Amino acid sequence: MPVPEAVLPDLDQVLHDVADYARPYAVDGHVADYIPVLAESDPGRFGMAAVELDGTEHTVGEVDEPFPIQSISKVFSLVLAMQKADAAEGVADELWSRVGREPSGDPFNSLVQLEHESGIPRNPMINAGALIVDDVLLDHCEDSLHSTLELLETLTGEPVEVDKQVLDSEQGAAHRNRAMANLMASFGNLRHPSDEVVDAYTRACAISMTTRQLARTTRFLANDGVEPDTGKRILSPAHSKRVAAIMFTCGTYDAAGEFAFQVGLPCKSGVAGGIISLVPRHLGVCVWSPPLDTAGNSLAGRVALRRFVERCDLSIV
Ligand code: GLU
Repeated sequence: MPVPEAVLPDLDQVLHDVADYARPYAVDGHVADYIPVLAESDPGRFGMAAVELDGTEHTVGEVDEPFPIQSISKVFSLVLAMQKADAAEGVADELWSRVGREPSGDPFNSLVQLEHESGIPRNPMINAGALIVDDVLLDHCEDSLHSTLELLETLTGEPVEVDKQVLDSEQGAAHRNRAMANLMASFGNLRHPSDEVVDAYTRACAISMTTRQLARTTRFLANDGVEPDTGKRILSPAHSKRVAAIMFTCGTYDAAGEFAFQVGLPCKSGVAGGIISLVPRHLGVCVWSPPLDTAGNSLAGRVALRRFVERCDLSIV
């Protein structure tokens, strides 16, 4: 359980210590290069932000530098689907009959498991699972990108946009995602044309945000589904808890067990080096450092989160 507010350490000081400790680890990582524009990322960038439920922001490094959110968008697509499930019966049953809730233990873009498991992806935090979520959203949102941007604007209080250069680069390199969508279609687990689904998915990955903004976005998950600045309910408490549970068990590719062991908080990473996290009832958190470890998670980001949790004694386990 999180410790009471009164014994929280000085978070500004903690973040500076964490950054000094974690930054050097980035040299052992590699920036993602299978999406050409990501290969140009500056490996030396680092930012970390922790935002309290009362809005107090603690930051270190380049927290106002935008970067593509990539797979972090999978959380927001799932949130939109859960909103639909809160509003209408049957949506949750349909979704969970088409995508599982188990860690994959395989790379995020693996086709092998999908073939073995008859086109039902293990969870919504890997590419195939997110494609199913996007397929479901195509039935329930007039324009799922617009809905995602609206959600993000509600959560950050600021306008949020797609980076067109990233989108072009991503669309040109989406071979595996197209293969996954087609494989799922061949098993009868895709309702819309695969191009349409992949397009919705890549557009969400190309959304550009800053570390500070992303730290704000998870506060509602730390607050039983209510955005703390406005008091607006984003999700029911049950669905809020479930999104956080899926982040915890499936949010960091095939290193989710290691993250639970080292960090012990719900997390979701993206291949541009961002990781969002949250401390229930206390904080929204984001760290960004582009070089990745072999599982595809930000290397210095993982080290920073581990150090942060050790310093604050805020792990949920
Ligand atoms: N757009 C990336 C892809 O589809 C996202 C991967 C990620 O961040 O995990 O490969």
